[in-house]
Amino acid sequence: MSELHEYVGPATMEKIASLAKRRGFVYQSSEIYGGQSGAWDYGPLGIELKNRIQREWWKEMTQLHDNIVGLDAAILMHPRTWEASGHVENFTDPLVDCKKCKARFRADQIPEENLAEKKCPSCGGELTDTRKFNLMFRTHIGPVEDTSSIIYLRPETAQGIYVNYKNIVQSCRVKIPFGIAQVGKAFRNEIVTKNFIFRTCEFEQMEMQYFVKPGADVEAFEAWRKRRWAYYEKLGVKMDHLRWHRHGPDELAHYAKDAYDIEYLFPMGWRELEGVHNRSDYDLSRHAEFSGKDMQYIDQDNSERYLPYIIETSAGLTRNLLMILCDAYDEEKVAGQGGAEDWRTVLRFHPALAPVTAAVLPLMKKDGLAELAEDIREELKEDYVTDYDQGGAIGRRYRRQDEAGTPFCVTVDYETKETGAVTLRFRDSMEQVRVGRKELSARIREEIKNYRRIL
Ligand code: ATP
Repeated sequence: MSELHEYVGPATMEKIASLAKRRGFVYQSSEIYGGQSGAWDYGPLGIELKNRIQREWWKEMTQLHDNIVGLDAAILMHPRTWEASGHVENFTDPLVDCKKCKARFRADQIPEENLAEKKCPSCGGELTDTRKFNLMFRTHIGPVEDTSSIIYLRPETAQGIYVNYKNIVQSCRVKIPFGIAQVGKAFRNEIVTKNFIFRTCEFEQMEMQYFVKPGADVEAFEAWRKRRWAYYEKLGVKMDHLRWHRHGPDELAHYAKDAYDIEYLFPMGWRELEGVHNRSDYDLSRHAEFSGKDMQYIDQDNSERYLPYIIETSAGLTRNLLMILCDAYDEEKVAGQGGAEDWRTVLRFHPALAPVTAAVLPLMKKDGLAELAEDIREELKEDYVTDYDQGGAIGRRYRRQDEAGTPFCVTVDYETKETGAVTLRFRDSMEQVRVGRKELSARIREEIKNYRRIL
């Protein structure tokens, strides 16, 4: 029995990381060289999960809104962008080092008394003075490494939207209020990367910037707070694990007029999952100033001109993936063989997010059952991501699928040969029903649509 079968309370980050590696969700980057901190690789199940989280978000933010359009801007942007945005000057974290044990900390994340007494929280050694550390990755473009060739890896996707907003107004006939959605990589030279994939140097963001008339910003801000909250509810996330945190005056970013975070109760405590920010007209006015271009919006109906205010919803895609893993993780006592006590680890993903939707399992390899099962899998492939497993006892195969979060198992047995009916097994309840082969795909579709999480 693995250590996972000893129930010791809720999910820990160690268990999540170990399951993620074992089942091919997430691997450490460059592991054979000892690993690269701050970077992670997404395996076969991980990339499916990540794509699905992204797809649900994209659907929610674009398909379900007539006035939100998509964009995919380049990671490399003109360096003036980051001067205008304030990142060159302000995107810093306070950093302290221990002179004795060489540990490095963010000064705002260690107890105040340690900072006041300059005492290392790990070893008690002396700390250095606090210094500002810019989080942007800087590199050079072209063959010459001088100040004129400096370029940054973008620390947020938002700026790609701001610099394109006029292109979109001119080419897509959008009218205020409207939004622009984007998903993409962002890079931050984080001082402390820990807690698995929670805070990494390379990550992905799902951002939507909503352009409104000044004065309409407060109402739009409240509306977006409600929508983003409802989104997580729709995904079946445990709602008592979510809460709002409003930024106090000391926490507000240099661009923000008002800001709330949606926080999730991760195994290490409450942490930010997504930010909803009122960025005012800060970004557009700065881009107007630094580029010399007119960034005003012209209302075609009355020729009114103004700089729009921007409401931003900014969620980490990779952080959402971690949240979904933690939220789905469960260990449950079940009846094993001969009624003996057994445990199962199950990932209770919403079926719309599960990496594999249906696994087809022949009860036996022999008597043509394997061929029949492969045939049924072929049929399901058009509609769903499927898996096929014919190795080992059926109970063990169910457990393997539970651990990968597969919501439906389709078992092919001797009766299937006779009548064409398969057994459809539900991951959460472990209930089994007989379903005719012809109805199988439609039945799965219906089950996904009507899915309600059992808490
Ligand atoms: P923090 O204060 O934790 O450093 P932040 O407030 O700077 O984060 P934002 O700039 O608001 O974060 O970024 C929006 C979202 O992007 C966050 O809510 C988070 O989901 C995600 N994100 C930010 N930084 C990282 C990171 N280093 N690794 C993974 N996701 C991140």
